[in-house]
Amino acid sequence: MNSKKKLGLIGRNISYSFSKKFFEDKFQRLMLNSFSYDIFDLKEIEEVETLFSNPELLGFNVTIPYKEKIIDYLDNLSDEAEKIGAVNCVLIENGKKTGYNTDAFGFEKTLMLHKKPHQQTALILGAGGAAKAVQYVLDKNNISYQTVSRKSDINFENLTPEMVREHTIIIQCTPVGTFPNVKDCLQFPFDGLSGEHLVIDLIYNPNYTQFILNAAEKGAKTVNGYYMLEQQAEKAWEIWNNQKK
Ligand code: NAP
Repeated sequence: MNSKKKLGLIGRNISYSFSKKFFEDKFQRLMLNSFSYDIFDLKEIEEVETLFSNPELLGFNVTIPYKEKIIDYLDNLSDEAEKIGAVNCVLIENGKKTGYNTDAFGFEKTLMLHKKPHQQTALILGAGGAAKAVQYVLDKNNISYQTVSRKSDINFENLTPEMVREHTIIIQCTPVGTFPNVKDCLQFPFDGLSGEHLVIDLIYNPNYTQFILNAAEKGAKTVNGYYMLEQQAEKAWEIWNNQKK
């Protein structure tokens, strides 16, 4: 009757995890003794097959570097995950594995909380998995954007202050500046920023990246990735929990 419900996080080199603490606190607060949340550090994605053989596994989160690689192991994708091409949450129901992308939900909540009506064009810095979720949300909300990355036409060498002036939403989607490399910062024409700008850095550790500090100095409204992180976890919980009531 009171069967175990196992959840967790797959990734590589993930000994510390926000998600583990977040869900363990939640289980304790809600007195959900039958739930557990574990870290599954996988050297290779193939190792996920062993996890799938556990009948108590209700689902798991997925982090770097497996958000795209996990797709080959799933039976179904949500509409969003399919369009984004990345999965950060898996639900297992009667042996059927469905992939979701709750990063998009978390980012949309963050954007909508802070965006002003005049902010209608964006620069996305980076072109990895998180950037894809960001692109999806901007498309959905009819916000036009340009991608800036090391491999795109507009890159960190040729991005001008004028371009920054023209795009009043800046979304930092690279890991540059993450703990412990907190002094690192993208090469970016901060002089193009003003009080008209919203700058969202998806990094949540440290709270204030060098990028955020430089942007705030120019008067931009700045936001870090913490609320997005919390919201993607809440959405994952909704997906898992609604299935097992
Ligand atoms: P990813 O798939 O590995 O992509 C990283 C991107 O950053 C790539 O476009 C890469 O460029 C670029 N990049 C890496 N190092 C760079 C450098 N030194 N200079 C310029 N560009 C560089 O990673 P991801 O999953 O998108 O995650 C990106 C960041 O978002 C991470 O810090 C992650 O923690 C954060 N994130 C936060 C949340 C949240 O809930 N707040 C959710 C998801 C991700 P190349 O293509 O040129 O290599």
